[in-house]
Amino acid sequence: MRQERSGSQVNQSIAVSALLLAALFLLPLLVAAPFRSTLFEREEPVDETEREAPAPPFASGALDASRPLRVLDGAEVLEMDLGTYLVGVVRAEMPASFEQEALKAQAVAARTYTLYKLQSGGNHGEAADICTDHTCCQAYAGEDAARANWGEQAGAYEAKVEAAVRETDGETVLYGGVPILAVFHSASAGLTRAAGEVWVNDLPYLQAVDSPEPGDRIPNYYSRVEFTAEELKAKLQTAFPGADLSGGMEGWLKDPAADSAGSVDTLSVGGVTAKGTQVRSALGLRSACFTWEAQEGKMVFFVTGYGHGVGLSQYGAGAMAAAGADYREILTHYYTGVTVEPYRG
Ligand SMILES: [Zn+2]
Repeated sequence: MRQERSGSQVNQSIAVSALLLAALFLLPLLVAAPFRSTLFEREEPVDETEREAPAPPFASGALDASRPLRVLDGAEVLEMDLGTYLVGVVRAEMPASFEQEALKAQAVAARTYTLYKLQSGGNHGEAADICTDHTCCQAYAGEDAARANWGEQAGAYEAKVEAAVRETDGETVLYGGVPILAVFHSASAGLTRAAGEVWVNDLPYLQAVDSPEPGDRIPNYYSRVEFTAEELKAKLQTAFPGADLSGGMEGWLKDPAADSAGSVDTLSVGGVTAKGTQVRSALGLRSACFTWEAQEGKMVFFVTGYGHGVGLSQYGAGAMAAAGADYREILTHYYTGVTVEPYRG
């Protein structure tokens, strides 16, 4: 009996342990169950009438379709026609929430830039015509990536971008009958900058013009960056090895000369004459329209606008379109002395 009793006690404790073990494994399922049921609910079929019909794939207009392109995307070379490429560029280069005429101006500027690169040989030799790296050629976004970024607006935005390209089929900004270097930027400081003030060569069609920037509606239109003396010294010394940065930081940057757009054309960095654009890139500022001031032991930079400031301003184009300008008016405003027409050359 004793043995039987103790045997049944052993059996009981095994049974209890088994139950506890089972409970341990079941607990997560019990906790997860409510979430699983909501997941299942989400998978309920929706009313077919509410489901968006899949849009037909983009088809370029006749002129854009007649230009095959080899687009370097990372290590891969994608083959597509000019129109298909431009849809990817407009998706990536301008917020699709912008006015339709601004998107059309962006499409024509991107087409013009691409044709200029094709005619001037581009940056990729025999390997490709153009690439998807915005620091080299132009930004590019495939449809899936853009749709994921756009969320609920994806269908409407994709339709706007495709229409901007198709409705301007082949249209190009020309100066003297040839495609121009149609550079663009995000937001100027109220005036665009002449090419010669930013880069080495001046171009007759890239001159300073007024730009109606809606500053209060542009994210980070006015930005502020601060550096400790050590941080500032390290960055300036790397970019300008000849600069004498002895003494207090208040004396390191001197004698700023403004260009016609109010951006810093040149300044002295520790006795070395530098371009405002060089200091901009050395310090990672959003534009070369900046001032600086020592505050509480730090050097603070106040910056207006975003980008190099040359050519078409995207936010300025958006403001012009909102005020009723069409894409041709926008393009001929930002690019001096040009025409906008279908180009077959
Ligand atoms: Zn490139």
